[in-house]
Amino acid sequence: MTDEYANEHEHDLEAEYLSASDATVLDIYYRDTSPTIDVVVPCPSCSDPLRVSARVDEVVETDMELPIDDSEGVYD
Ligand SMILES: [Zn+2]
Repeated sequence: MTDEYANEHEHDLEAEYLSASDATVLDIYYRDTSPTIDVVVPCPSCSDPLRVSARVDEVVETDMELPIDDSEGVYD
């Protein structure tokens, strides 16, 4: 993979090549009236960090205990 390719492509997100353990939550804030979560993930093609803004459209309770302990491998 060349630098030229990395500069030209549009960093398409392909969910099948991303995993939760690669994602880092940067910020949670209101955009207009919607809660929005910014996450940084590596581009599946070139590994450049990509800032992804995701609007919250569903909120449900979950059985997970907080704080989540990374050592338990909840993402496996
Ligand atoms: Zn890329």
